[in-house]
Amino acid sequence: MQAGETLVANPQQKVEIVGAGLAGALLGLLLARRGFAVNLYDRRPDPRHSRAERGRSINLALAARGIRALERAGIMDRIRPLMIPMRGRMIHEQNGATGLQLYGHRENEVIYSVDRGALNRVLIEAAARHSGVALHFEHTCIGVDSNGGGVRFRDSHGSERIVAASPAFATDGAGSAVRASLASSGTIVAREAWLDHDYKELSIPDRDGRHALETNALHIWPRGGFMLIALPNTDGSFTATLFLAREGINSFAALGAPAAVSEFFEQQFPDIAALIPDLAAQFAANPTGRLATVHANPWHSGQTLLLGDAAHAIVPFHGQGMNAAFEDCRVLDECVERRGGRDSPRSAIGISAGPVLQSAQWSELFADFTRSRQPNTAAIAAMALENYTEMRDTVLDPGYVRRKALAVELEKRFPDRFIPRYSMVMFHPEIPYAEAQRRGVIQEEILRELTRDPAFAAGEAPPGQAVSFVAAERLLTERLPPIV
Ligand code: FAD
Repeated sequence: MQAGETLVANPQQKVEIVGAGLAGALLGLLLARRGFAVNLYDRRPDPRHSRAERGRSINLALAARGIRALERAGIMDRIRPLMIPMRGRMIHEQNGATGLQLYGHRENEVIYSVDRGALNRVLIEAAARHSGVALHFEHTCIGVDSNGGGVRFRDSHGSERIVAASPAFATDGAGSAVRASLASSGTIVAREAWLDHDYKELSIPDRDGRHALETNALHIWPRGGFMLIALPNTDGSFTATLFLAREGINSFAALGAPAAVSEFFEQQFPDIAALIPDLAAQFAANPTGRLATVHANPWHSGQTLLLGDAAHAIVPFHGQGMNAAFEDCRVLDECVERRGGRDSPRSAIGISAGPVLQSAQWSELFADFTRSRQPNTAAIAAMALENYTEMRDTVLDPGYVRRKALAVELEKRFPDRFIPRYSMVMFHPEIPYAEAQRRGVIQEEILRELTRDPAFAAGEAPPGQAVSFVAAERLLTERLPPIV
């Protein structure tokens, strides 16, 4: 037995999880609560005893879909202290002007900044506390059998072993070794669509323990073809992320020398330049990350299922990658529940045998899961790409700001028919992503028709005067069924 492994008192059906990141750790916990014996592997050292990896996003926006899945696992009490509410986007113009665009008109319509490392640690600790969960750190997956029948690992001593995938869940992230292995054997088709923009993180230090910018906002410096954003951390610092083209005039390629970096920030983000004393040094030291949308089909082969970023990584501009990965875990848990898996919230030492699903049942479950999730993850992948243009560009357009205000007004007047698309995605986990996308297209058409009045376009009249709400009600009733 290895350090960290837990002895299972009764024979339970084993499940293997490759990747103890955000999705893997949550999935491990959920499946352990159902009575499975969970083996959770990760190539990293145990994060409970080591520093976080550099180069990954340091904090993330957690929203309703992620929270719903965490609630299902019964661990929100441990995660709440990590969460900083962000009520809206604080837009920073080049001339220094700022303005807060609220995310929603209700008090609870906020998203939360959460430290990735701390969140992962809480999930791993919760999984580790549950009996039946064995953790195997410093185990790198190096491939799977072509039919998904076995998973190959190499440990930190270079020893290799094969573990039977009966079943195995691949939650090994955007660069999934399992996905690559299944794709190279021709069992699945997978493609990474790389963005031609990369990202780099920078830390904005605290000022005497306090945040140097408004705490409860997601800050954006939109500059047309590129942007900088910043999310608050609980220690008073902010993590800023620059999203910029790889090549070209304003690009990472053009920022090779420290002087070029300082000049670029002085010109584009003078307020940020003033807040980061060691800007050029951080820029040189911190890695530049690449961004891609992952397309894979099918997500399963034999007894192996891809899940989270391994199946459908997306670009981060809707703040939904982790939320979607957590939603995967919830949906999978519901699939297991429907097949008779019970839930055992407490650590269950010496529990009787958990559920046993036969291979055919796992295959059926994986097919059900994939059918229900693929249209939704395709929808959020497309919406995340669209949101990049909105964040770096459109948010400054006065017409956009007026349409947003009108959208909020329509939601207040017709809440059963109209919810702004952003709100559907972030605050309404009961509305699937694909439905949010479909309704969003119709809503955009309605907004366009309602705002054809030149007075609205010119910004001369507030929405209430330039827009006919009688016409709005008619269009909404004709084109959109009530939200159930
Ligand atoms: P990961 O969190 O990547 O976990 C994968 C795990 O697998 C890791 O622990 C890794 O060590 C392990 N692993 C990898 N390869 C192997 C191997 N061969 N063998 C064994 N173990 C392996 N999402 C949001 O919801 N909100 C946000 O605000 C947000 N911001 C983001 C900002 C940036 C810059 C980026 C890049 C992403 C952002 N995301 C955000 C997306 C989010 O990070 C991912 O969607 C999320 O981490 C997916 O979780 P996962 O568990 O599938 O993958």
